[in-house]
Amino acid sequence: MHVFGLIGNPVGHSLSPPMHEAAYDELGMDAKYVTFEPDPDAVSRAVDGAAALGVDGLNVTIPFKQDVLDLVEPDALAARIGAVNTIDFSTSPPRGYNTDAAGVRRAFDHHGVSLSGAEAVVVGAGGAARAVAFTLADACETVHIANRTVDRADALAADVRTELPEATVSSGGLETLADRVPDADILVNATSVGMDEDETPVPADHLHSDVAVLDAVYSPIETRLLRDAADAGATTIDGGWMLLFQGVVAFEHWTGRDAPVDAMNDALRSRL
Ligand code: NAP
Repeated sequence: MHVFGLIGNPVGHSLSPPMHEAAYDELGMDAKYVTFEPDPDAVSRAVDGAAALGVDGLNVTIPFKQDVLDLVEPDALAARIGAVNTIDFSTSPPRGYNTDAAGVRRAFDHHGVSLSGAEAVVVGAGGAARAVAFTLADACETVHIANRTVDRADALAADVRTELPEATVSSGGLETLADRVPDADILVNATSVGMDEDETPVPADHLHSDVAVLDAVYSPIETRLLRDAADAGATTIDGGWMLLFQGVVAFEHWTGRDAPVDAMNDALRSRL
């Protein structure tokens, strides 16, 4: 039997087990996906132990995504971002990937949205924004990062510029959205605004029909931002797609097979 899983703290409400097990069922794989909640000071022993026990792969979530970077051999994308959310134990040392970032790209691709030549705006400067900003800076023409705490936006923009010197990246406070969103082709909300509340970080009158809007928030699945964007005639992509595709890309790293995207999506959507 293959064993995959998730380490984080807490992981009790994770939707990854049903999403991945739907893939195993669909492909007739003898595999299980389990969750682990190690103490924060035990993450290194947990990863070594998983390798010693023959665990095939682990997803990694808050608060361990940076901690595991030193415990694995990160690929170029994970090293650049400074965070690993997927470990593949089939090699020694194990390989680390950042499928949050790869998943953002796949979510846009799946909706037929091209990032090439696009002007992008990212709202937020936390962990999700970091994966989004690196992905968009690599693929788009320009990226603007707007955050409530301006220093964090500036620091993230500086990190992106260091790693991707060719990228055109700017930053500012939330008030800069008024200038940037009307000209944007891509807008991503990577703040927690809208999570379990009917709030939006982007005033509705900045939105327009030529922008594709991805909201990382997936609870509720239809946020106020996405409703406002749909009203403006924009393309909308909910946070379930980002969640789905980080899992899809992890599955593909672990198994070398194409993931059964529809089965994984059905399992996820039925729980969102
Ligand atoms: P985080 O590291 O804690 O960052 C939170 C971000 O939200 C910061 O930029 C923070 O701004 C901003 N923020 C919080 N409250 C705000 C408010 N009232 N007004 C304006 N900005 C506010 O969190 P995270 O891990 O990046 O997660 C952010 C969201 O993305 C969460 O809803 C999470 O569920 C979602 N997410 C989704 C996926 C997915 O696969 N769909 C993956 C990861 C995360 P300051 O810097 O000013 O505090």
